[in-house]
Formats: sequence, C-alpha cells, structure tokens
Amino acid sequence: MLLIPCPNCGPRDETEFHYGGQAHVPYPENPNELSDTEWSRYLFYRENPKGVFAERWVHSTGCRQWFNMLRDTVSYDIQAVYPMGVPRPAAPLPAAAVTGTASTGPASTTPLSTTAPEGATK
Ligand SMILES: [Zn+2]
Repeated sequence: MLLIPCPNCGPRDETEFHYGGQAHVPYPENPNELSDTEWSRYLFYRENPKGVFAERWVHSTGCRQWFNMLRDTVSYDIQAVYPMGVPRPAAPLPAAAVTGTASTGPASTTPLSTTAPEGATK
C-alpha cells in the first residue's frame, strides 16, 4: 500500500488517488497537421522505464487536484511530488540508467520505428 503525499492534503492512502499516466507529455502545437502515425504516437506511445518515472495523479476522493509525482517503478519509492506545469525536478539516476539499460528523463527521445507491423495498412 502506497502512502501518497498529496500536496494539498498531506499523506493519504493510495486508494484515494487515481493514476493519470506519464507526466510532461505536451499537447501537439498543431494537431490538425499531424499524420495519423504522429497522432497515434501522441495518444498511445509512452515511456516505460525501469526506475524513476514522472507520472500524473489526481486526489479523486480528496481535493480533486492533479499533481505530478516522481516514483521509482521498481521500489515504489516516491521521490518528489510537485504541481502540474512545473518542470520535472532532478532525481538520482537509477542503477539501470547508469549501466545504460534504461532511458530516463524528459530529454530521452528514442526515435520510434516507422515500420508498420505486417498486415497493418491504412
Ligand atoms: Zn488532496
């Protein structure tokens, strides 16, 4: 059971919260100019790091406010809680990132494959 420190209400049980996915995913500047592939990448492609991950949460049974949280996906350690719209705070690199097996941070943009799976046509 996680004890999540809501920035408005203080520490509360995780059952009071809902997960909102990866934080810091910017809405496209000109969504009408995106191809279907680019739009699907915005909608569905998310990082899945082994280690520290910036994610969104809402205190749905409390203050009903959204906030961001840095959480280690392996140890569940909550490393930071910060308001929406604030840049991701620095966090210690997880061991996996030091050895080069995981991507972390907002600056890591892995080019996505443009190869469609066999049989996938528009
Ligand atoms: Zn709250």
